[in-house]
Amino acid sequence: MINNHNDLNNYKKLVLNTSEEIPYSRIKNTMFCTEAIKINKNNMNKYQQNDSMNILNNNLTNNINNQKSLKVVYHDKYFKENINKITYYEELVSILNNEQLITLNDLNYIKEPFINSNKIIFDSNFESGNLHMSIELEELSEYDLIIRPEFGTNKVYQWFFFSVYVPKNENYINNKILKFNIINIPKDKSQFNSQCPVLMYNTTLNKWSRNTFNVFIYNNGIKNEKLKNEYLAYFTLTFSFNFEFNTKYYFAYSYPYTYTQLKLYLNTLNKDMYKNIIKFGKVGLTINKNIIPYIVITNFNSNINEIKKRKCVFLTSRIHPGETSSSYVIQGVINFLINIKNKISIFLRNKYIFKIIPMINIDGVIYGNYRTNIKGRDLNRMWVEPNEIHSSCVLNIKKLIQFTLLHREIEFYCDFHGHSNKSNCFLYGCEKKGVQNMEKIFMKILQKNNNTFDINSCVNKINQSKIKTGRAILKNEFKIDLSYCLESSMISYTNPINSKKYFPFNIEKYKKIGFDFCLSLNELFDSNNFNRLLNELNTFNNFLNITHQINVNNENNNNNNNQNNNKSNNNIFI
Ligand SMILES: [Zn+2]
Repeated sequence: MINNHNDLNNYKKLVLNTSEEIPYSRIKNTMFCTEAIKINKNNMNKYQQNDSMNILNNNLTNNINNQKSLKVVYHDKYFKENINKITYYEELVSILNNEQLITLNDLNYIKEPFINSNKIIFDSNFESGNLHMSIELEELSEYDLIIRPEFGTNKVYQWFFFSVYVPKNENYINNKILKFNIINIPKDKSQFNSQCPVLMYNTTLNKWSRNTFNVFIYNNGIKNEKLKNEYLAYFTLTFSFNFEFNTKYYFAYSYPYTYTQLKLYLNTLNKDMYKNIIKFGKVGLTINKNIIPYIVITNFNSNINEIKKRKCVFLTSRIHPGETSSSYVIQGVINFLINIKNKISIFLRNKYIFKIIPMINIDGVIYGNYRTNIKGRDLNRMWVEPNEIHSSCVLNIKKLIQFTLLHREIEFYCDFHGHSNKSNCFLYGCEKKGVQNMEKIFMKILQKNNNTFDINSCVNKINQSKIKTGRAILKNEFKIDLSYCLESSMISYTNPINSKKYFPFNIEKYKKIGFDFCLSLNELFDSNNFNRLLNELNTFNNFLNITHQINVNNENNNNNNNQNNNKSNNNIFI
């Protein structure tokens, strides 16, 4: 987020063509929803309360068939205007299970939001915006909302980001509460609940808060044909909020972090005071011809021979465009590394060259995708054989890695991600055969340094499903043993003592992970510390193995005890 007033003004001058106070620029060529379809709320009670598809189907279809007409007032390529006598349920099923791909050709469909009305205006026609459609259930108070599928695919993930403007309207008599139901959440593992409500941004107060309430997620019975047997039905995320007239609110799955925000942030580093610390470059262009920034941080004041000897730490982020937490984490890393006065920052710059690509999937970020690029490809499954057509950015990064390896060793790699299902932050590493526990040392250090880090969620093996990821390729193809993926939850972290108590992440907490990540790198690179920790870990694990064997021998017939021992062993390092 841009907190500094000058930055915000610069931002407006550079990017925004509107008078909006929030730094999400309007972009051309996105789809968005405008005014809602209207439907009678009385017919919707069953839909709200039942998760059985049959009950829902019968009640809803019967009720809605009695309606004379539904006036569809949204604009969309796939649905005609003024459809009469449709059934709401059938329409939803057909909308949600539409097999048609949204491709770049469809981006020509542009319409400015319609704001000269006393209606509530939905808008997602801005950078990273994602809302496909809104449907008015009860006049001025309740809406069903539909998330747009990823560009280039028909799959829906959970990323949503849209604004709502409430003009003054005399029809509100008592309370000013709006209720939204996002009806096409593809899975129920979302971490939203009363402890972690949905995020909203109030443009009058200029800040994000979680002042939403009555937050629930439930199986809504609308069959999800795209997911075959994996999940039978879509889920609804429902939430309410109090509003003021003539105010615009933004709602998002997690804190947005746009390409424009990244460019602004990098601009703040392009100053004289940092000129011997940071250099800017690019690793090519995205499919939509956006520059992919690449930065190098080291002490450039050193003599050339010293610089030549330095090993490299290679960091990448945001290959999954909806995983915005990873951008705040890597911004925390960069902030730490460029610190002029901090002794550890100075030490790290003197010892290493940091090559950082803070945002890989820029087109996906701009168009509000969660997982894929705008050709519908999951770039983190393209590392084995990236190509010029679908995955040129991964191809270019691999070339940069090859180029780097011609000149210096890459000692450490980490790819930063956000996680939608799990709380806390954690690492995926790669097991090194021969040197037992080496990959676990960094996990142990980070656990000590950061209270949102959960070592029990760490994984040290490359599963078959992850064989084409950046972490796996850096390890298997480029032989970089310390190759990691750092996951930070998009929503929450837990209390280390009471894991059922959830706290919502905020931006500062994400940046703190980046800060502690650098502290941990410093400890990892201290060879005395490294060897001490390795010995400690191996001794500890040997001790556990011995204890485990003794227990198994002594209590061979006691299955319960045996299981408990296995469990405690696993809990230390998975
Ligand atoms: Zn990811």
